[in-house]
Amino acid sequence: MRYCEESGCLERADRSGLCWTHYNRRRGQSNATGPVTKKLSPWERLAEAALNYAAADSEDDYQRATHGLRNAAKQYRRNG
Ligand SMILES: [Zn+2]
Repeated sequence: MRYCEESGCLERADRSGLCWTHYNRRRGQSNATGPVTKKLSPWERLAEAALNYAAADSEDDYQRATHGLRNAAKQYRRNG
């Protein structure tokens, strides 16, 4: 039988090489640092887009932020 590969952990590992606790912990961490998949409400999306718009400091940023803000505003008008 295998033990969890997390150093100092003596729990039994499953097929992932980690115990249940560490497996879940790692999965949680990778979700936290991964691409943005969090579900935002239309209002939160609009607020975030507005902040991006305000923070834009290059022509590229500005273009992208304008696009994002418009989309967020449309979404908000429809669903907010
Ligand atoms: Zn472990």
